Amino acid sequence: MLNEMAVMRDICASCGEKVDIHVKQYIVNDTIAWSEAYSCTKCGNEVVSDDWGDPTPNEVRKAILEQEGEWEFFVLKPVENKAQILKNLRSALNLTLQGASSLLKKIPGVLMVGTFQEMLLLKKLLALPDENITINRTK
Ligand SMILES: [Zn+2]
Repeated sequence: MLNEMAVMRDICASCGEKVDIHVKQYIVNDTIAWSEAYSCTKCGNEVVSDDWGDPTPNEVRKAILEQEGEWEFFVLKPVENKAQILKNLRSALNLTLQGASSLLKKIPGVLMVGTFQEMLLLKKLLALPDENITINRTK
């Protein structure tokens, strides 16, 4: 399921034919990257665009959430090294100390929800032990 790309319906920029734009997110240099691509069956126009480091465009993220589901990042156990996880949370999510502290209070429990790739990136950046985390589909 996750190997299939989400699709957005649009029209070809060149001839106006209806096209399916394939969209996806992936991880590059510890940030979320995204891409969109289509190949027009009528005029042969091929368009690919991608970017990383900036937030995924809303319509792309929405299509991915709708078609690939919303996922939760669940931390199963209390964190032993709070100072380290605070530091990792702040840098992973670009949070203030206060913002990171209030997130830390959700542990054990659901830390965040988002796309599957966003949860995978969070797992990588937080560097918690594998057995302390599950990523579950919520929708
Ligand atoms: Zn076309």
